[in-house]
Amino acid sequence: MKLLNNEYKIEKIADDLYQITLEQPFYIQNKLYLILDKYPLLIDTGYIESFGSLARSLKEINLGFKKIHFICFTHPHIDHISGGLLISAVYSKIKMAGHANILSDIPDYMKYVNEWKDDTLRLINSAYEEKQSRKRIDDFNENWEDFLKRLENYETRHRPINKIKLDIPLRDKSVLTTGKYNFEIIETPGHSKHHIVLIEKKKKWAFSGDMVIGNIPAIYGHWDGNLDLYKSSLQKLAAYDDCTFFPAHGEIIENPGRKIKLILKTLEMLEKKILKKFPKKGINLREAALLIIPPNAENDADLWYIALALTESILEILINKGLLNLKTGDNNQKIYKSNH
Ligand SMILES: [Zn+2]
Repeated sequence: MKLLNNEYKIEKIADDLYQITLEQPFYIQNKLYLILDKYPLLIDTGYIESFGSLARSLKEINLGFKKIHFICFTHPHIDHISGGLLISAVYSKIKMAGHANILSDIPDYMKYVNEWKDDTLRLINSAYEEKQSRKRIDDFNENWEDFLKRLENYETRHRPINKIKLDIPLRDKSVLTTGKYNFEIIETPGHSKHHIVLIEKKKKWAFSGDMVIGNIPAIYGHWDGNLDLYKSSLQKLAAYDDCTFFPAHGEIIENPGRKIKLILKTLEMLEKKILKKFPKKGINLREAALLIIPPNAENDADLWYIALALTESILEILINKGLLNLKTGDNNQKIYKSNH
């Protein structure tokens, strides 16, 4: 986890369209988008602790939260929605929009975040034997506890923020109208169960959240992700390759079709690489990850969890294809074995 500095940047990137860059502690900077229309729309809100930076960036263009009419979440991961939890507690008139199932699936946001934490611990446990994992789990726990404490702090200082306010539940083909612009919603589950992409067809703008970012995004298959669904959602997005993609992290994408093809190809290649290098003796999750991911990645805890989660999802696809199987070994270690 990185230390958060309060830097921000707001930049006009097209007529009526601004990009806001905010720091966040878990991953590379967040990119938010502001559409200045009759009813101004903000897409994603960043991480709760960059709330101040977001306020300052809006001030730079003489705008305050009070002028924002809609906020739409591409998905409910902390770096996209936790700022919004605070905004909706303070500015109750802003209309919040996001995937319709968020309301029934996430009745308590703190619980949802804790489930993520638990799943990450589960991943570490299945990747490391007892002693090795102890240290990693302790380090990881400390980081998480700090974060959760800070989150709870916001609850006491403001209002409870464990409930996501959702005034406008969205589904496939829903349309969000801001005045002259219409944003069509596409459901794109995979990185997150509740991921949506907003398309402005006339402008050829696609606000693509975490679907197409620099690398393959995190897929927490045992929490709210699914690699098969991610692949089919990418194929769905390939139909919009004449659009400019505005991602929630990283550079704006002018040639999304090529980028999507590359991600799908990389995933296919990773499956093949695991199978090709798979040793006769069984291996655990860590050893499987090291077949496809450079070993120095293991030194960056935040990235390594993402790598373990992705590896686990690939292994599960190979199990479903009947090419591998999963056994429980000594110390309750999960061991992957080849069927050939
Ligand atoms: Zn995400």
